Amino acid sequence: MESTCTIAVVGFGGMGGHHVEHLEEIDAFEVAGIYDIRPSQEDLAREKGLHVYTTFEDVLADKKVDIVLIATPNHLHKEIAVKSMRAGKHVICEKPATMNSEEMEEIIDVEKETGQLFVVNQNRRWDEDYLVVKKLHDERAIGDVFHVECRVHGSRGIPGDWRQKKQFGGGMLLDWGVHLVDRVLLMFDEKVEDVYCTFSHVRNDEVDDGFKLTLTFASGKTAFLEVGTYNYINLPLWYVNGTRGSAVIHDWSMKGEVVHLETDEQKDAKPISAGAGLTKTMAPRYDDGTVRHQQLPRIDSNIEDFYLNVKDTIDGKADILVKNEEVLRVMRLLETAIESDATRQVVGFEKDVKVRE
Ligand code: NAD
Repeated sequence: MESTCTIAVVGFGGMGGHHVEHLEEIDAFEVAGIYDIRPSQEDLAREKGLHVYTTFEDVLADKKVDIVLIATPNHLHKEIAVKSMRAGKHVICEKPATMNSEEMEEIIDVEKETGQLFVVNQNRRWDEDYLVVKKLHDERAIGDVFHVECRVHGSRGIPGDWRQKKQFGGGMLLDWGVHLVDRVLLMFDEKVEDVYCTFSHVRNDEVDDGFKLTLTFASGKTAFLEVGTYNYINLPLWYVNGTRGSAVIHDWSMKGEVVHLETDEQKDAKPISAGAGLTKTMAPRYDDGTVRHQQLPRIDSNIEDFYLNVKDTIDGKADILVKNEEVLRVMRLLETAIESDATRQVVGFEKDVKVRE
């Protein structure tokens, strides 16, 4: 019979609950219980038939717990992770792993010292929209992708919890930026040379309630990543430019289209009226050369693979998919973005550093 991994969840709020739902579906895992400082969450856990630990020390002392899963607000991740690894537990930690790169370096040191596993839930690597864009890129379906734009728009502002406070690791760059940067760094496998970022503070002075971030890679490729929480009309989730086509994904329901160029032959463009002027450059294409696909390719992706990879890694059967050096690189890039916003300058990032030899 396959062995099971036993997990205790620390922080049983939105994401802690979400993890428990997933883990209960996977035979390879068993949920030992939860620990949360709020009585309401303890009650909720009991209603769901879960064991409730009364102290964090009880979690660490429970010999049957193999993994501590951290789903607390961000400022607590490092301390809980370090204590857990020192108590002989592996750790799955919510993103952003830490408040800054220094904390992440400390975690990596403790991971090496204790020989335990520390892994971050970069679950949005399994998002179908991202995987479709990555497929178009990897398979060169629209030629060489030289620019991507990814936008996450909402209009409700930052939720009225710890996410509004700097001391708890609030703000949208840490919340969503960490996903968007992580994915684009995996897709464009090259150095990032320049970072330019502006924060928005529409209704929040203390933390960013949105950001616009441009990354310029060594080859000149660019990525524009944007999060907005006061956008009452959403722009598309993805807009992708390749040398032989373009793609758009409107939203998480995977509505979108891909247009690719099949032949370089094209009829001469005739000038068209545009506004108060005339343009030949921007005349639409006739039906020559391009093919329009109004259905996006679909990709079967399952976030269960994240959890199973953690177990297989612990069992020595796989290499970890979400690597700590990748997480550290993202944290350093986010710090560069913060510097760019503060100085209103483009800031160099990996100009003299070799990555992924
Ligand atoms: P939340 O506020 O809903 O839940 C956090 C829980 O932690 C609360 O129940 C709170 O009582 C508890 N808590 C606070 N201090 C604690 C302590 N010292 N010990 C034990 N429990 C404590 O927040 P959330 O939305 O669930 O976010 C939690 C983490 O998950 C954050 O790091 C967030 O960035 C991350 N998150 C990730 C995703 C994703 O898709 N990967 C989505 C949402 C949130």
